[in-house]
Amino acid sequence: MDRQLEKNQVISLEITGLTNEGNGAGHFGPNRFAVFVPDTAPGDRAQVRLVKVLKSYAYGRLEKLNRPSRDRMEPDCPVSRVCGGCSLRHISYEAECRAKNGWIEDSLRRLAGIQPNLEPFQPSPSPDHYRNKAQYPVGQDEEGSIRIGFYAKRSHRLVDGGECRLHPPVFTEIAQEVRRFLEKHRIPAYREETGEGLVRHLYLRIGQISGEIMVCLVINGRTLPHSREFISLLKDRFPMVSSIVLNVNRNKGNVILGGECVTLWGRDIIRDTLAGVEVELSPLSFYQVNHDAAEKLYSVVKEYAGLTGTETVLDLYCGAGTIGLSLADRCKRLLGVEIIPEAIENARANAARNGIQNAAFFCGDAGQAAARLAEEGIRPDVIILDPPRKGCDEAALEAVVRMNPGKVVMVSCNPATMARDCKRLAERGYRLERVRGADLFPRTCHVEAVVLMSRI
Ligand code: SAH
Repeated sequence: MDRQLEKNQVISLEITGLTNEGNGAGHFGPNRFAVFVPDTAPGDRAQVRLVKVLKSYAYGRLEKLNRPSRDRMEPDCPVSRVCGGCSLRHISYEAECRAKNGWIEDSLRRLAGIQPNLEPFQPSPSPDHYRNKAQYPVGQDEEGSIRIGFYAKRSHRLVDGGECRLHPPVFTEIAQEVRRFLEKHRIPAYREETGEGLVRHLYLRIGQISGEIMVCLVINGRTLPHSREFISLLKDRFPMVSSIVLNVNRNKGNVILGGECVTLWGRDIIRDTLAGVEVELSPLSFYQVNHDAAEKLYSVVKEYAGLTGTETVLDLYCGAGTIGLSLADRCKRLLGVEIIPEAIENARANAARNGIQNAAFFCGDAGQAAARLAEEGIRPDVIILDPPRKGCDEAALEAVVRMNPGKVVMVSCNPATMARDCKRLAERGYRLERVRGADLFPRTCHVEAVVLMSRI
């Protein structure tokens, strides 16, 4: 029996793992009591102060590094400690990919009872400046100066700067220009506590291929004072800005975007091309934030689907339809299902814009829509599943199995629910054939994986 561990006790710990929240993990004493320590890396030997001791595990704080891991690196972002957006900046990108691959393998083994043979992990083409979208909160400090930046770790305290290594540098320049403009005209930031003030968020989007930039100001109202000057400032200094939009959000609470957009200048959309599909993006449309890594992910889906041109493909949880549309020229018929009506409108428009005539998109819950398709006798050869973090519901998987596809290609952003869903499919006559991890969100704890399940 271990000596009882106590809060504030300092222990010497060898870090042997990295949890999918980005905490180092080690085991203490003969009972191998688990201790989780932020800012540590596998291979570290450290003095750790216990800050929270629970029944079967504890949290600690790094006090002193006795022997640093070889995977460690100096965080290469000046604000990474305060910000908390990147929980893996203290290890090398290579070590990060290794850890993420391990999370996928571990989930499949523990939660699905599958011993997977993972294909080589796909790193993001760039670990920096990869995001094509940023949403900066706007606030004011005690002196009333405008701040545009990000929230400090687990808080609603605004840290100014907006200089984030995950965003393209031009986003920072635009944020600074917008800050100067708001400051000059004393346009008040929105205050969550009182619901007063005007400007809530600065929302930026860039088309990776087109270079077009959308500047969207989310406001607690319908008009922006001095908007002419706002427009000319932006378009003179940033020629790639092709759309300037106001998003009206008068709701309390922390949902960033409201439902209504008012175009101030230029087009109300920007364009981009993803995996050969031309897309138009409004502020409200869903779009993959790491364009280049998403293309690599889609190419794994394409390989796993192995289409020959004769198949019916069902893209469940299709968003704006981009995965399915990128495969439309390789199958006979494409069906897409998605719950958000605007995304379905985007998907239909994307199909039309690209001259794709063999695709149809339906708005509805994946489970209900798939059940209806199954009842209508639709028998897809390949079903693509790309659910949100919580995974597929039982009803959706039930309907998938009823349609009896030869292949199910699952794209997942959560290894735990992916493993659960693989297990459910494995219990209903499918075998995990191939699996490959991919990184779409370098330096953060998110990881993506693609799985091919085949009917036995
Ligand atoms: N495949 C798309 C988007 C995947 S994100 C792409 O690659 O871009 C997951 C999608 O599932 C989101 O668009 C979300 O709106 C949708 N979704 C969430 N719950 C759903 C449900 N119950 N039924 C159908 N779609 C759902």
